[in-house]
Amino acid sequence: MGQDNFVAQKRASGGGGAGGLPTTTTANGRARTMLPRGRQINKTFNNIKITILCGFVTILVLRGTVGIGSLSSSDADAVNQNLIEETNRILTEIRSDSEPDDPAESEINPNVTYSLGPKISNWNQERKVWLSQNPEFPNFVNGKPRILLLTGSPPSPCDNPIGDHYLLKAIKNKIDYCRIHGIEIVYNMAHLDKELAGYWAKLPMIRRLMLSHPEIEWIWWMDSDAMFTDMVFEIPLSKYDKHNLVIHGYPDLLFEQKSWIALNTGSFLFRNCQWSLDLLDAWAPMGPKGAIREEAGKILTANLKGRPAFEADDQSALIYLLLSQKAQWMDKVYIENQYYLHGYWAGLVDRYEEMMEKYHPGLGDERWPFVTHFVGCKPCGSYGDYPVEQCMRSMERAFNFADNQVLKLYGFGHRGLLSPKIKRIRNETVTPLEYVDQFDIRRPVHDNSGSRS
Ligand code: UDP
Ligand code: MN
Repeated sequence: MGQDNFVAQKRASGGGGAGGLPTTTTANGRARTMLPRGRQINKTFNNIKITILCGFVTILVLRGTVGIGSLSSSDADAVNQNLIEETNRILTEIRSDSEPDDPAESEINPNVTYSLGPKISNWNQERKVWLSQNPEFPNFVNGKPRILLLTGSPPSPCDNPIGDHYLLKAIKNKIDYCRIHGIEIVYNMAHLDKELAGYWAKLPMIRRLMLSHPEIEWIWWMDSDAMFTDMVFEIPLSKYDKHNLVIHGYPDLLFEQKSWIALNTGSFLFRNCQWSLDLLDAWAPMGPKGAIREEAGKILTANLKGRPAFEADDQSALIYLLLSQKAQWMDKVYIENQYYLHGYWAGLVDRYEEMMEKYHPGLGDERWPFVTHFVGCKPCGSYGDYPVEQCMRSMERAFNFADNQVLKLYGFGHRGLLSPKIKRIRNETVTPLEYVDQFDIRRPVHDNSGSRS
């Protein structure tokens, strides 16, 4: 299997969406109820603004659907212009979120190593006791470990409105996969730790979910810009019985080349255990935004091959940690490249037709990639490393390629990989259960012999 190309696999320009994002943490309801009165009013205004915005969007959609009736075309243009301006004004206000930071939250002290929370040291034992006391929440169901897929996106609207459309398609794709395979799913839009906004936000999310869901055996992080493109393939979890972190990558790129793209943090799994909490603690200190992240970025660029100069990102920090403390961590890390737990989109999206001709879902590797990840596209940001048009077109193709596999059960398929329109692929029948037996992809895969071990 070929290795990913050596192109920028993260945005080099300080991406991560820290800019313009609200920084107030409301990780739990309590924080909300303790807001001072001024801020309560502010919040209420924000809510009203969002409601008005929704109203405008509804009107826009309705106008598109039913036409504008009696208005002349110049009146209609004026109304339209007005609506667009108003929508943009409200969007700008939501994005700029002028709420001050909560003074109760202390400033970060650069002399103290940053931590994700109070040190937890006995999680394995505590979780074990909890599991035995709560048999109604088992961590294994029918012999299979319970998995939770975690993903998310920034709390504010995307810089480019079409970004929100692709966030919607990407979450629909994940819901489909999880529904088919009995995986739980969480979509988080809150910054649980205000220091770890942007690509670092996944760390506090993973920790919080591990601690709040002791019944979950594996937490699977997946970026919002990654889509399942093999709806049949299942992660061979029994292969990882002795491991606690499963991540896509290449050991030679990691240990020989010290490449900043040796691993990809767009899709990886953590076992819910003490080891994982410890790894998160060791991974987080380069994350706090501002001076710490900037300075850490210099260390990462100096030490990792091919890394452009920019602030510390989660992927480089993990690679650096595993390189510098190899003996401590690596025996529990499984570097996977037998199938695309993460698949770099640029080499895949133009080959979908060829794959459909030659192969079938369930393989997960370069013949039918499990995950296609739009690294460098920044669909929710203002600009990425690739032309927006190429990214959007490719995301549309990936979505439809996957959606065809879902629609097949219902007897439909997209007219083409770029078409949102569908066509019937078989006639309706008076004996529909035949098709259920034939096409329901929830059943165990019959022919998985092609997937490599
Ligand atoms: N993310 C998030 N909240 C944020 C910013 C990012 O949950 O405020 C998630 C989102 O799923 C995204 C991932 O973190 O895909 C990685 O962030 P990055 O900025 O690298 O975005 P990407 O390049 O994946 O679009
Ligand atoms: Mn990504």
